[in-house]
Amino acid sequence: MIRAILALILTLAFVGSGIDPASAEEPSPTASPTPTTSASPMPSPAPTTDPAPSEEPDCRGAADTRSAAQRNKPFRVCAVVVLSKHHRVTATYRPKLVTVSVPRNGISQVALQRVAATALKALFTRARKAGHKLVVRSAYRSFSTQKYLYRRDHRLTAPPGASEHQSGLAADLAVIRKGRLVRGYAFGTSAAGRWVRKHAAEFGFILRYPNHRAAITGIPYEPWHFRYVGRTAAAGVGKTKTKTLERYLKVSA
Ligand SMILES: [Zn+2]
Repeated sequence: MIRAILALILTLAFVGSGIDPASAEEPSPTASPTPTTSASPMPSPAPTTDPAPSEEPDCRGAADTRSAAQRNKPFRVCAVVVLSKHHRVTATYRPKLVTVSVPRNGISQVALQRVAATALKALFTRARKAGHKLVVRSAYRSFSTQKYLYRRDHRLTAPPGASEHQSGLAADLAVIRKGRLVRGYAFGTSAAGRWVRKHAAEFGFILRYPNHRAAITGIPYEPWHFRYVGRTAAAGVGKTKTKTLERYLKVSA
């Protein structure tokens, strides 16, 4: 009973704190257990056990229950955006973006959500130190851009509303080697491609569509497409057998 009351107080304190759990980049274990002392109207013989380390709610496996109107925001599981053919967004969805000053190729600017931008910048800096001149070939794409691309290529492009690029959390990478652009599958087999795969998770990125996982992700191998999910989720994805976001979050593609 006492535990139940405590849990309720903690929950209320958390809600009252104005923190939107959905917008938190990574569920942080340090954020929640602070309010125990002040908020408690409990009589003094409070439980002497430490405030239980707030266990993360098992949000994985959540169903996409958004109504048509609610699809102006992406489906989120454990604060991680899931954007795919079965979890689409409408044309009205537009994330908050910043431009990132990193080398690019074939695009006029690199726009991403701030968390992803900061992480990408750090990834590029580290890659440069390791001898790899990475470039971004595509980052944020609007619904209308996606629509245009899809009209041109139904086979390799996701339909508008279903592309991760619309989230501002994904980037397509390539490398400049000996003055030449190495992109696509060639990027995947290059030293730079291998380096990014190895180190992406340290920056919160994952190779979103691994080889031989189209049955799970719904997308064939894309060695150039990296997705920011935060370091916690990136590490979690790395621990799954299939290295897929779908398996980690226990959701369909
Ligand atoms: Zn991509």
